[in-house]
Amino acid sequence: MIGIGVVPGMAKAKTYLLDEDAFLDEKKIVDDPETEYQRFLAAKEVCAAQLEEIMKAMPETMAADSREIFDYQLLLLEDTGFLGMIRTAVENDHTNCEYAVTIAAQKYITLFENMDNDYLKQRTIDMVDISRRLNAILTGREQKTLSGIMEDSIVAAEDLTPSQTAGINRDRVKGILLERGGSSSHSVIIARAMDIPCIVGITRLLDQAVHGETVIMNGTTGEVTPNPTPEQIREYEVYAAKAELEKQQLDQYRKCKTETLDGAKLQVYANITSETDVTALLENGGEGVGLFRTEFLYMAGETLPSEELQYKVYSSIAKKLEGKPLIIRTLDAGGDKNIASLGIEKEENPFLGYRAIRYCLDHPELFKMQIAAVLRAGAWGNTAFMLPMIATIDEVRRTRAMAEEVQAELASKGIPHTATIRMGMMVETPAAAFDAERFAREVDFFSIGTNDLTQYLFAADRMNQRVTGLNSYFQPTLLRAIKHICQCGKQNGIEVDICGQAGEIPSLVPIWVAIGIDNLSVSIPSIPRVRKIIRETRKSDAEAVLEKVLELDTAQEVERFLGQQFR
Ligand code: PEP
Ligand code: MG
Repeated sequence: MIGIGVVPGMAKAKTYLLDEDAFLDEKKIVDDPETEYQRFLAAKEVCAAQLEEIMKAMPETMAADSREIFDYQLLLLEDTGFLGMIRTAVENDHTNCEYAVTIAAQKYITLFENMDNDYLKQRTIDMVDISRRLNAILTGREQKTLSGIMEDSIVAAEDLTPSQTAGINRDRVKGILLERGGSSSHSVIIARAMDIPCIVGITRLLDQAVHGETVIMNGTTGEVTPNPTPEQIREYEVYAAKAELEKQQLDQYRKCKTETLDGAKLQVYANITSETDVTALLENGGEGVGLFRTEFLYMAGETLPSEELQYKVYSSIAKKLEGKPLIIRTLDAGGDKNIASLGIEKEENPFLGYRAIRYCLDHPELFKMQIAAVLRAGAWGNTAFMLPMIATIDEVRRTRAMAEEVQAELASKGIPHTATIRMGMMVETPAAAFDAERFAREVDFFSIGTNDLTQYLFAADRMNQRVTGLNSYFQPTLLRAIKHICQCGKQNGIEVDICGQAGEIPSLVPIWVAIGIDNLSVSIPSIPRVRKIIRETRKSDAEAVLEKVLELDTAQEVERFLGQQFR
């Protein structure tokens, strides 16, 4: 099998097939319906206890919102309609309770799916979860949830939802194989942050993968080898030993300064999706948070996070960072980040649609809540906020006006907050790149979102594996655009960062140094490697390479040339 390697690294483990058709539909007739129903009630108790256990084990900051998912599942478990259907099927039709649970759940799912309300439609997944859990308990078979994985595994699934990914057992999940997804889909972004090798776009994966079968995967080449031969296992072991050695060698780059051989200084920041990432960020020597993708806070729960919850999370991170910068990106909803509780209608072209700043400016109540939380957290540390998907100057000005309004409101209520509004923008639309000179006069810093900038520049969907070639960070057009953006920023005296994935591509790091980028915000596991490259780079040499690269015509030429220069 082959797909697209999106998080590098190899892994060898048993396949854990996360199939979505775990419903039991085998009907059996039972002799003693009363005992059978008691069996169901006992399973229901176990199920409730398991859900309580999961809630208890949740990290504190996620708990408030994610807990609601499980609270809701507990409610479903006591739903009189659901219980009534099961009881009737068992007592009147002498049906076995596994079958009764399946049929009752399916009726509910059909009901939810036909609802007009997006929020209720999203309840389908909870019913699927509950019926799976109940049936797993009833049959005593292993339940296929990611949090429950107890042995080293490579997960094979169609795709992963954020809540599934959040529940991953990092110690046990050694790799991820997905039928769908692109290199910058959010399931992949999380896998990268967890340093779990990942391959996407494997055609007919679910038909081919066998639960329990040993596989070797290579997240760099995209190759998946089921039932490896002794020779292939030896190759893997050589790789694993080398990877371990490299990791040890990189250790020294966790704590040292980020400086080139000729004294140019940069900072290596990290991209985070939750407060729990901060410990790993500090351990790896991150010099700040260059991008907090706050939409994950909104995705975690069934309801929108309140100002208080957001304030708690942002201020807690700011305190942990002890003065290091914390750049909080305002809600970047839309695209592949569907947030059920916002109720945004399904769109033909979600990446070109009602997303990010467009949605926020249309919903000032929601936007102001987030801005207030950021400004309040600013009283505890070095915070800034950053706007996603900016395409017009007007969007920047409207947001600044709103922030000033929020600041005045906080002041009038005597609520502590930061006195300075530090507001940056993502440069990720061609409009912002083209007119960077004008935008630079409006904001306090730029952060280049290469994931989106590349997809929009080349009109190539970042989720579509067929256009991966166009979506290459080695495209000379992209490099020229980034150089232009950086120059415009510098001319106006503002910092220019990169927070898209291109920031951590090893052979491009010297190019960012040469272009004059101030800060690279990368995935947490990449921090030491990126710092090592910077420390081994001489800026003046990199500038000479850059000059040649900017003259090249194709992505292949650039990749080849850089490969030769920076081995
Ligand atoms: C980007 O677009 O490069 C980026 C960093 O943001 P996201 O991947 O969340 O869209
Ligand atoms: Mg983006």
